[in-house]
Amino acid sequence: MKTSVIGYPRIGTLRELKFASEKYFRKEITSNELLNTAKSLREIHWNTQKNSGIDFISSNDFSFYDMTLDTAVLFNIIPNRYRELNLSNLDTYFAMARGFQGVSGDVKALAMKKWFNTNYHYIVPEVEDDTEIKLVGNKLFDEYNEAKSLGIETKPVVIGPYTLLKLCRFTGNKTCENFVDAVIIAYKDLVAKCEENDVKWLQIDEPSLVKDMISDDLALFNKIYDEILSIKENCKVLLQTYFGDVRDVYADLVNKPFDGIGLDFIEGKETYNLVNKFGFPSDKVLFAGLVNGKNIWKNHYEKTLETLNDLKNKGINTVLSTSCSLLHVPYTLKHETKLDTKYLSHFSFAEEKLVELSELKVLADSNDYGNEETFRNNKKLFTEQRDCFNQAVHDRLCNVTDKDYTRLPARIERQKLQKVELNLPLFPTTTIGSFPQTKEVKANRSAYKKGEISKKEYVEFNKKKIAECVKFQEEIGLDVLVHGEYERNDMVEYFGEALGGFLFTEKAWVQSYGTRCVKPPIIWGDVYREKPITVDWSVYAQSLTKKIMKGMLTGPVTILNWSFPREDISIKDSISQIALAIRDEVLDLEKNEIKVIQIDEAALREKLPLRKSDWQKEYLDFAIPAFRLTHSGVKADTQIHTHMCYSEFTDIIPAIDDMDADVITFEASRSDLQILTSLKEHNFETEVGPGVYDIHSPRVPSVEEIVNALHLMLTKIEKENLWVNPDCGLKTRGIPETEKSLQNMVEAAKIIRKEV
Ligand code: GLN
Ligand code: ZN
Repeated sequence: MKTSVIGYPRIGTLRELKFASEKYFRKEITSNELLNTAKSLREIHWNTQKNSGIDFISSNDFSFYDMTLDTAVLFNIIPNRYRELNLSNLDTYFAMARGFQGVSGDVKALAMKKWFNTNYHYIVPEVEDDTEIKLVGNKLFDEYNEAKSLGIETKPVVIGPYTLLKLCRFTGNKTCENFVDAVIIAYKDLVAKCEENDVKWLQIDEPSLVKDMISDDLALFNKIYDEILSIKENCKVLLQTYFGDVRDVYADLVNKPFDGIGLDFIEGKETYNLVNKFGFPSDKVLFAGLVNGKNIWKNHYEKTLETLNDLKNKGINTVLSTSCSLLHVPYTLKHETKLDTKYLSHFSFAEEKLVELSELKVLADSNDYGNEETFRNNKKLFTEQRDCFNQAVHDRLCNVTDKDYTRLPARIERQKLQKVELNLPLFPTTTIGSFPQTKEVKANRSAYKKGEISKKEYVEFNKKKIAECVKFQEEIGLDVLVHGEYERNDMVEYFGEALGGFLFTEKAWVQSYGTRCVKPPIIWGDVYREKPITVDWSVYAQSLTKKIMKGMLTGPVTILNWSFPREDISIKDSISQIALAIRDEVLDLEKNEIKVIQIDEAALREKLPLRKSDWQKEYLDFAIPAFRLTHSGVKADTQIHTHMCYSEFTDIIPAIDDMDADVITFEASRSDLQILTSLKEHNFETEVGPGVYDIHSPRVPSVEEIVNALHLMLTKIEKENLWVNPDCGLKTRGIPETEKSLQNMVEAAKIIRKEV
């Protein structure tokens, strides 16, 4: 048995690449210093894998920002506006990733999108009509040879032609079809150059094959690979898929002269059945993705070995692999000094997954693995009761009935009552929750966490900030106020820390995009709320004003989607537990006279399954009811808001309306407002606040600009249903631009009110 790793994290165990890159961006180090940091990280990563006995180690899985952007650059897909900046190759690359402002020009970054069903974001390559797609880059070969000179034979990785074409945005008149031939030649050249460089195995990643494929897609796939594979001689090609199963293309895949095919046995629900039903050719190697590359729980050896044995019995030549790149898990448990081993023994980050691969390799080759110590230790983890069970949570969930998912009276009725009770003007103005998190706000929180200041000092400081924030909002005339969220580090971490059932790590960073990493909490056990979390802050803020103070919570779907989930209970059960905990908070806020409560579902769309046919049954059917469970218990005149970060929900509008919130705010200023047309077509009932300005930039929108945006919105939305607010929370903004922008926003709303 041999082992393979699809890809390794690259940011560094202590985020060395992040810090070096940021220094380079601030011009504190030279490009050479940055290149050296990168080189030494690659060396560490290869050696770590080699020392764990991994047989197939990847190269070119390193990236300064993103591997899709790397692939675009490899094939000369660089929009003219970046070329025209006349920067070095490295700086052109960073200009595409992050935008550029300098003497040679002022360009925005390329768009960023979520990488399949993960929290990682990739850069969307742009193909212009005059883009000449061809092999121009050397990164893949340089890194392959760099590893070789360290005595490590690697399999270079590249994003495949089918996936690349699916991810590119074609900005001119030409479409994907116009570029297929060029792409084929480019990849043929790549394979040829691999031959020249004596590469033994090339790994071509094609995650797009796990999405729904129609006949045109299959034709495209076949055309591309029939040509590319025709020139292959000594270099073996591994076609690697992940994030699901390849049910639409399996038969074609196994009939092509690939030397290896990588399949995901973790997320690919049908993978095993496909192999069973259609068989697997004896002249190929199956790279079986059995060690989860996305979650942090220990592998269940007994189950994995059963599958491996079964494949062996079928005569299939199998390599044991991760299910996807290890990019999606943290590096190592070594830096976790605070978590008890009773917890840690259940987890496996990237380094520990290497150990799992090598232990499993030995076990798979043993005739009597049941008696091996590694096997028995692993088995114990799954047979002994983990301390994660809470009877009260289970009882409560069992007693939830259909009526707990339904808020009465119907929304139309509620909206009428709320207009009277809340007495808001037309086009009510509000914000999404957070106000600028200045250095002192962060310093106050971290001093409290470190025990440097007392709880009283911490609270007093925040109260002062809240008072300032409320005063400012009153002065400029906002209608529904917020307290500013100064006490929150992150919208999920804050609630996770307050709820029972969550664990937190110290250094378990996972790359989210570029130099940005997140530290997702781990859902360890049944989730429950011990005591009120936000009530004191909201009540204090309300006590300072006669205006309406909005309570601010994070919804169950977002809390789950931004955490590492359990694997011993269903996602549905986990979400429902969190929903009940948030429901308690909603009811407590209401009891304490908070009349408007916002339950953010920033990440609702994120975990929508990759195949449309799975959307309802595998996600929306429980995610949407879970949201309803949080608020179905409130009175008719308590107004429930929700907020989503992306406006990309055109395809699930009925589901969003079905959340049964009274008001939804969402990002809209950067989109073409297409969403508003779709809302109208669907007779969307929820009142809406499409963001009137972009909070991701320090730019201050003019009154006129906002008035224009509102005019446009009014062509699609009934005036009774339109709210006026920014795109998202203001926490990453500075104070001066925030104040000016909000003043202009309130001015614009006043102008519009006079017009109607
Ligand atoms: N209420 C949160 C805030 O304002 C929402 C953040 C988000 O949508 N990502 O910060
Ligand atoms: Zn948002």
